[in-house]
Amino acid sequence: MKFNVRPSKCIIFSLVAIVLNCFLWPGITDAQIRQPKTSFTVSMPDPGSQQYHVHLIYSQGQKALNDFHMCAWTPGFYELIDFSSAVTGFNAKDEKGNNLPWKKTDSNTWQVANPKRRPLIIDYDVKAIVPFVGNIYLDEHYGYIIPGGLLMYVKDALRHPVTLEIKPYAKWPKYVATGLKKVPKKKNIFYAADFDELYDSPLLMGNLEALPSFTVNGIPHQFAGYNLGDFDRRQFIADLQKITKSAVAFFGNIPFRHYTFLATGMSHGGFGGVEHLNSTSLMLGNKGLMAPDRKATFYEFLAHEYFHLYNAKRIRPVELGPFDYSKENKTDLLWISEGFTDYYEYLIVRGAGLIDDQQVLAGYQEHIGNYENTPGHLYQTLSESSRSIWSVRGAPTTRDKEELSKTISVYDKGCALAMLLDLKIRHETQNLRSLDDVMRLLYHDYYQVKKRGFTGPEFWITCKHLAGVPLDELISYSTTLKPVDYPKYFAYAGLAIDTNTHHLDGNNLGITAAVKDSSLLIKAIAWNSPAFKAGLQQNDRLISVGHKKAALELFASALKDYKTNDTLSITVSRANKTIELKLKLTSWDTRFFTINPMPHPDQLQMQIYNGWLRHSEHLPKKKNR
Ligand SMILES: [Zn+2]
Repeated sequence: MKFNVRPSKCIIFSLVAIVLNCFLWPGITDAQIRQPKTSFTVSMPDPGSQQYHVHLIYSQGQKALNDFHMCAWTPGFYELIDFSSAVTGFNAKDEKGNNLPWKKTDSNTWQVANPKRRPLIIDYDVKAIVPFVGNIYLDEHYGYIIPGGLLMYVKDALRHPVTLEIKPYAKWPKYVATGLKKVPKKKNIFYAADFDELYDSPLLMGNLEALPSFTVNGIPHQFAGYNLGDFDRRQFIADLQKITKSAVAFFGNIPFRHYTFLATGMSHGGFGGVEHLNSTSLMLGNKGLMAPDRKATFYEFLAHEYFHLYNAKRIRPVELGPFDYSKENKTDLLWISEGFTDYYEYLIVRGAGLIDDQQVLAGYQEHIGNYENTPGHLYQTLSESSRSIWSVRGAPTTRDKEELSKTISVYDKGCALAMLLDLKIRHETQNLRSLDDVMRLLYHDYYQVKKRGFTGPEFWITCKHLAGVPLDELISYSTTLKPVDYPKYFAYAGLAIDTNTHHLDGNNLGITAAVKDSSLLIKAIAWNSPAFKAGLQQNDRLISVGHKKAALELFASALKDYKTNDTLSITVSRANKTIELKLKLTSWDTRFFTINPMPHPDQLQMQIYNGWLRHSEHLPKKKNR
């Protein structure tokens, strides 16, 4: 998953709602359908009520007491979400229409007594009021479903087939966008081999717009969206096709029969996404999506979500599937799933020819700076960060500011470690091997052959096998707080990285801010900066700086009247409260990690640089292991 906030400067907005025809996605054959234990029908007769109705038939394996559970989380999103609180009107009958007694045995479980052990018919409603990729939503215009937020499961049926019929609101087109397979000759009846597939296949319906579909290696790709805003569709799809081709070329194999991007346009300026088995859910700020200052970041974000179909969904830590939907599924290795995907998003878009070397290096510089300039790098290892990423949505954090400052991001250090590992393997093998080969080998050995995830030792054995040398230092970067020797690894590609400490005067506040919803939002606070010491926080909304209205261009002018050791007044909005803070403009030290070419690189350094940054004429030769 990935969430991002970027400035939105374009105010052009236009809603395009095109009635869709049915798309001719490959379905499944009758022979492929195994008899489902569980069949759902979801209807939405009054979408203005923001409520789905679920009709569930559980036809095999009934017991005298049957527990029906709502999920505590859904795949791709590492948060516990209280889906069960949105359930109302639970009702249970047997196939003869006799009402059956039931009771809640815990917050997520409805227990139905079924003394005659007949097939069960369950009905319930679910409120859908949260417009978010990790939850369900419904209004008069569109409906978005993550099945884990709507459909109950029985533990005994989790590994068995399931069908899902969707009855869209009568005034909408009948088309439902999803990665699920269609049951042949049936309108909007879908099939999943088990609940892991069902829960990893969101659905979007309503007044959707379908962008032109395209194929990659013969596999159809569709982009369906609601309220997408104003941008050049033709250019976007041409670029998206290049991005997907660049990712697929990496593995040369597409492990499904069709892929669907499900996009919901939002009025705010950021974007976020959650990866799924053969689809991705996107939430897009629909103003200026393709503006020059946003396009590269938007494309990197799309590459990130798409690359997850390999890394996280198929190349994965052993703990990430089959899933337990009642609690967190923790792993020490989430830095591989998320950090490596962050690493490859730049290289995929570079391989598509849509960004240049400098943009790739700037991305890596930002990740390294984010990690090294947070105090958390002195306290938390990558493994610990991976395990502790889970949180409870909507609950007040139990960690105070000091505890939070002792954490790191698996995205930032994971990305940095992927880069070091890639450069190390290239250096040790004369650029004949790379991290790409590691990913391909993990895909082959664990997804395709063993059909399971890998353990930490198995991951490092694969890396060492391809590098041909011990990798103790890199392993220690994942499990210890050992300072990272960036210059050594960057030198392998003929690059120098500035790790020196730079002394800044107090006029540099240490705030990274972006325009969001017509105001200025703090994106990051540099460690030890005047802003950090004064208690400013990420996501504070800046109201005024030095008693002048906060705006990006006013920062410099507001500060020019101040000297080091002066005190500056800043007003922010935090959790709907206005807070005034006094910043002491003391000088401070930081590191920039600027990356520049070394003079006179040797031949191997040039080969590594060119191969690494996807200069096609220098791509390393692929060899069988
Ligand atoms: Zn991600």
